[in-house]
Amino acid sequence: MPLYPEQGIILRTMRLGEADRIVTLMTQGSGKVRAVAKGVRKTKSRFGGRLEPFTHVDLLLYRGRELDIVTQCEIISSFRSVREDYSRFAAGEAILEATDRVSEEREKNVRQFMLLLGALRALAGGEDPAIVVDAYLLRSASLAGFRPHLRACASCGRPGPHDRFSIASGGLVCETCRNASAVRVAESTVPYLAHLLEEEWTTSVGDDARREASGLVRAYVEYHFDRPLRAWAHVPR
Ligand SMILES: [Zn+2]
Repeated sequence: MPLYPEQGIILRTMRLGEADRIVTLMTQGSGKVRAVAKGVRKTKSRFGGRLEPFTHVDLLLYRGRELDIVTQCEIISSFRSVREDYSRFAAGEAILEATDRVSEEREKNVRQFMLLLGALRALAGGEDPAIVVDAYLLRSASLAGFRPHLRACASCGRPGPHDRFSIASGGLVCETCRNASAVRVAESTVPYLAHLLEEEWTTSVGDDARREASGLVRAYVEYHFDRPLRAWAHVPR
């Protein structure tokens, strides 16, 4: 079936020639997809402003060998409120970038798509942008099989509580297993990390735990996906 319907969220767009654009989408059923939108930059384009980052769209795509072609596109949600506020926008950009880095092309990942949609809804709904970003990153790592160990030692399984976190080992480590790169974490940081993994999008938390967790989450995700997260640094904290 060369023509297929999908829904997706636009991660980024790139100019192609005079009038066309390549859009990268995270779709519900087909993973990350790159597709050409023809004539999108003409003033009378039939796509109008529908193919912009953050937009959740319903699409009809034509399957190509490398790039697909967008043949129809309707907006489900434009997430305008994410674009119109600097903190939300910066957080949204970090989330879109991370999605692009961690998702494989044409590899179905419904849970990643739902997580992305949930994060954008949380931002639009006024949740704390920096916390939404960190929760999104940690949950994305978890979906990809890098769920951090926050109770038992990540190396030997000895029951906690432990107070050293090793990014390379994948979570908290005990006295015996800790290596030179394991960092000491404050007592309040661990439950906060657990909350980011499991619960709602935001929570009340002290600034110290938040700052510590935030740096750990970024380093953790960059290490395990082996990809830099540039937009993360622009999120106001
Ligand atoms: Zn151990």
